[in-house]
Amino acid sequence: MARVLIIGGGVAGLSAGIYARMSGHEATVCEKHIIAGGNLTGWDRGDYHIDNCIHWLTGSNPHSPLHQMWLDLGVLGNGVGTVQGNSLMSCERDGFRLSLKPSLRDLYRDMVEISPEDEGEIRKFCSAVEFLMGVDNIAGENCDEGLNAGRVFRGVGPLLKYYGLTTGQLAARFKHPALQCFITGFWGDDFGAFALIYVYATYCGRNGALPEGGSLKAAERMTEKFKSLGGTLHLKKEAARVEIEGGKARAVVFTDGSRIEADYIVLTTDPAATFGRILDMPMPKKLKAQYDNPKLRPFSAYHAAFACDLTELPFEGDLIFDVPKEYAVELGTKQLILREFSHEPSYAPEGNNILQTMTFCFGEDCEEFIRLRREDRAAYKAKCERLASVLQYLIEDHCPTLRGRLSLIDFWTPASYERFVGSRLGSFMSFAIPEKFLPIPLSQSVDGVDNLLLATQWLQSPGGLPIAAEQGKNAIKAINKLVKR
Ligand SMILES: Cc1cc2nc3c(=O)[nH]c(=O)nc-3n(C[C@H](O)[C@H](O)[C@H](O)COP(=O)(O)OP(=O)(O)OC[C@H]3O[C@@H](n4cnc5c(N)ncnc54)[C@H](O)[C@@H]3O)c2cc1C
Repeated sequence: MARVLIIGGGVAGLSAGIYARMSGHEATVCEKHIIAGGNLTGWDRGDYHIDNCIHWLTGSNPHSPLHQMWLDLGVLGNGVGTVQGNSLMSCERDGFRLSLKPSLRDLYRDMVEISPEDEGEIRKFCSAVEFLMGVDNIAGENCDEGLNAGRVFRGVGPLLKYYGLTTGQLAARFKHPALQCFITGFWGDDFGAFALIYVYATYCGRNGALPEGGSLKAAERMTEKFKSLGGTLHLKKEAARVEIEGGKARAVVFTDGSRIEADYIVLTTDPAATFGRILDMPMPKKLKAQYDNPKLRPFSAYHAAFACDLTELPFEGDLIFDVPKEYAVELGTKQLILREFSHEPSYAPEGNNILQTMTFCFGEDCEEFIRLRREDRAAYKAKCERLASVLQYLIEDHCPTLRGRLSLIDFWTPASYERFVGSRLGSFMSFAIPEKFLPIPLSQSVDGVDNLLLATQWLQSPGGLPIAAEQGKNAIKAINKLVKR
């Protein structure tokens, strides 16, 4: 049994803690905040609950290889069900609405119904999704059948072609504007089309449902699982630096002046909080190369949450619609993503709902939020208020039944994420996957210090919950090997 010290109590950290205990090690997780979970979180505003994470949980399907990990971590299992909505997202353009439903057959039918002249491209697109659904059992529906020659033949060609395309280029292959919106609506024009197909395969394969209770409850269950296995969780415990002596990481010193010694140390903090800060060494070359690669873009988002005093909403899941040109520059987006939470009635008082927007932003736009909040709080506040009022206007304009029914309850930005988890640009996932990019995981070890491991979503694009959790799990696997040596 080894003493494993884990810095950061997000998903990667809690996962490392749980697997360390399952492997029989003494495990301590140190988290700088008053709660664990990191970006897997939510909070209350008055009578409303804001859920700020899971849109889909890859691995929710019991047939998928990731499922066991979510059971191990307490995210699923023990009577916790999943919520599979009728639609993950609906895109609207020119009076047409196309929804991503958890059935590829329905998706094919709906796409062809909207645009018969796109049938050829729709068939290729759906074949690529179907093919990916069968790879590595991503999907449940057909996963037991594996891949047959017909599916491989139909799907692999388009998939290889899409690997070289951005979402914008893929959208351009469709003639109908509603289909184009469906391809670019969530991530915009510059993402790899392959990543989009992966998400569609996950959802159509019923492998991207939501855990009941939402994000905060999932984080609480992970925390409880760790503690129930005998792990020690220190909250409000911020790591200041790792002590390294003679090629070994000996201990971590904390900002409260305390020091904890360990046999193995796992750093799950964001690389921006790790290198040159907790760890007095430069970023590993391969990771640095990814940060320096202009095609690999880190991203964040700003969000508004609105209380809504209606029971009947005009959409389910996420609604995506075009931002009028005169507002697109100010909002920094061409499409607006609006989410509703009717699947979790406890998030709002009876007869009410909560609606949240999520607007992705990149590079300078993220920096601007962070700079303004640091240097000119009044200007930051004014910018947030202005954005919120434009968003409210656009939502009410697009959905007339919501007119006069919304009131702003919170607004948060890349500056909020930057303060919360210490990530550069306020990123909450890793790099957005571009075209022609295979997200191969980078090494978790640190050159010259063999008892120190990294477990961060930045080691594999595009990050997200399964990657963070696997990072924690794999760090412990690596420690188990080192212990046996
Ligand atoms: C709006 C939103 C929507 C998302 N939707 C999805 C989704 O649908 N599906 C999906 O799979 N993923 C989604 N994600 C991404 C997912 O939340 C993250 O990928 C995941 O939570 C990252 O976990 P992590 O442990 O790697 O990092 P983090 O969550 O960043 O955790 C790192 C932890 O380290 C702590 N820390 C930092 N510095 C120190 C220090 N010096 N000492 C001690 N502790 C420290 C931080 O406080 C934090 O708790 C979403 C995220 C957001 C914000």
